[in-house]
Amino acid sequence: MTPKHRFNRQLLSFLHSSPTPFHAVSQMSLRLEAAGFDFLEESKHWDLQPGRKYYTTRNGSSIIAFVVGEDGFGNGLRMMGAHTDSPCLKVKPNPEMALHGTLQLGLEVYGGVLLNPWFDRDLSMAGRVFYETKQGEIASVLLDFARPLLVIPSLAIHLDKEANCNRTVNKQLHLPALAGVGDENSDFTFRDLLQREIAEQMPELPLRQVLDYEMSLYDTQPAGLAGLDQEFIVGARLDNLLSCYIGLQALLEADTRTTALLVCNDHEEVGSGSMAGAQGPMLQSVLRRMLGDADKVVRAIDQSMLISADNAHGIHPNYADMHDSNHGPLLNRGPVIKVNANQRYATSSETAAVFRRLCQLEKVPVQSFVVRSDMGCGSTIGPITAAGIGVRTIDVGVPQLAMHSIRELAGAEDPHYLFRVVRRFFQLEQLFAGA
Ligand code: ZN
Repeated sequence: MTPKHRFNRQLLSFLHSSPTPFHAVSQMSLRLEAAGFDFLEESKHWDLQPGRKYYTTRNGSSIIAFVVGEDGFGNGLRMMGAHTDSPCLKVKPNPEMALHGTLQLGLEVYGGVLLNPWFDRDLSMAGRVFYETKQGEIASVLLDFARPLLVIPSLAIHLDKEANCNRTVNKQLHLPALAGVGDENSDFTFRDLLQREIAEQMPELPLRQVLDYEMSLYDTQPAGLAGLDQEFIVGARLDNLLSCYIGLQALLEADTRTTALLVCNDHEEVGSGSMAGAQGPMLQSVLRRMLGDADKVVRAIDQSMLISADNAHGIHPNYADMHDSNHGPLLNRGPVIKVNANQRYATSSETAAVFRRLCQLEKVPVQSFVVRSDMGCGSTIGPITAAGIGVRTIDVGVPQLAMHSIRELAGAEDPHYLFRVVRRFFQLEQLFAGA
């Protein structure tokens, strides 16, 4: 088995174990712990030692992990950023609905979901549940039903002749998911369901009552490889758990000569404005506690660089005219540098030069993406973080198709390509001439 095959196999298992940002952060924490990273509580005093490795989390859904360099931050920091969240459907606070002999759950749309692919899937649920313990305290637990429970059935084509040319999805009317049979006399409550499931899965938990929850739906079909020669990775949440995994693996292999840091934020898909999102102060607080006074922070940041990794739109052969013809990234042809003159991406010629050089050193092909000049451009955590802490930043990502679908598609070569580039980046002692 080649390093790339091993990498992809572990990536698939990470995707499978991470149906929500809470689970992704828990999985990353487990891997960091196993590799000797110490957990830092935000509420405690931090005493960081050169050559040691640490991580901290916020809201259980964002994580920052780092290796403290032996150079006393004299060469700045090598940072990579990604996001833990993906567009999905979430269970509403009072979700129970009994209609026409069925029990349904009301759902809220999180982020820019491509809705059609959610129909006719065997859906499960996972998330975080807060409960009261038998001692009267408030505690939380991660829960994953890990089996098909819900379906959002399509309307038959016979009842909608326009289905293939004109169907629209009304988020309020068409998304409630089928959970079972029943009527308005049914005593089914969603909280009871959670309570029963927790009691069954974790009988040792001192659970008195479920207080509240954040539960998301997900497809039970696991991520896998596809294509005549398994050239594709297919699965949910490739945007952007794929980048989280790349950053994690690169950090696990980072040496301790210089400081390397990985930040994976929640809430990117809804604009990053939250206590745990990239617009929040999490990274800034960590940097301040790591580097010391304001003068030291500014000096270290001036010699630092951030690779913001979020998947890019590969060119779709059936919709090729959605791309600028000179900037249509191809699957399995390497990571993509994303450029936008209007700063929807934070890439500059300076950071792109560093990234291109890293690709050359690793013999990894590299591509460029610019959105068509007559179309709007997406954005990601890169510009937000660059603006927040004033760090030189590049936006990159592996090319993918079907972004924000419940089943996305990427090339099987590209994740390992980007991993090698980031691993090399974490080892760079000097980034910029004269710096
Ligand atoms: Zn993304």
